[in-house]
Amino acid sequence: MIHACILGWSWIFFLMDEIRLPEEFEFLASACHLAEPCYTVRALVKEDLGMLMPFLNATAKVLQYEPGEEPVMIFRFDRFKVALRSHEISLAPFSDRKTGAEALSMLIEFLNKVLRKRDKIAPNFTPRRRPPAFEIYKLLPRTNCKACGEMTCMAFAVKLALGRLEPSSCPFLKKDPGNLEKLYNLLGLDSTAV
Ligand code: SF4
Repeated sequence: MIHACILGWSWIFFLMDEIRLPEEFEFLASACHLAEPCYTVRALVKEDLGMLMPFLNATAKVLQYEPGEEPVMIFRFDRFKVALRSHEISLAPFSDRKTGAEALSMLIEFLNKVLRKRDKIAPNFTPRRRPPAFEIYKLLPRTNCKACGEMTCMAFAVKLALGRLEPSSCPFLKKDPGNLEKLYNLLGLDSTAV
């Protein structure tokens, strides 16, 4: 069954041998915890990225994967967060356009690398969902001290669940390495990479 599936997907991929770097992209203001202005790069591509997602799900640090007719995938790429839809790429956060353009180019290179290696990767179709904010909240200090820039620990938990903030934004978490590790595991993050 899995073998047939792999053959099927390889056949579809025969029609798509490269994801092309879009000539244009949008540079949109977005909210984040950094002191400097934050931007998101958004680009449209002709190729169907939904075909690539099961292969990325098997190789990248995926935070969220919702297969289906309108698939969505969110994963970490270097220090950026990437959101893919069938024909759309969003990448954040950036403080300037040049860094955003360079990261988009590197991301397309990475996607093409996965695409070229697809015959050696067993696709993973298993959905991944972000953990509930309350589960995250239980691992926070729960003092509502506001040092992270959020009004409450619960607000911080919600933003962690959405991937808009990182655990490192709470300066008190590192005082409790046990909970910090549980938090990284819950979020599907690599504590050594952040
Ligand atoms: S810095 Fe940490 S303890 Fe303070 S409000 Fe933010 S999450 Fe809660």
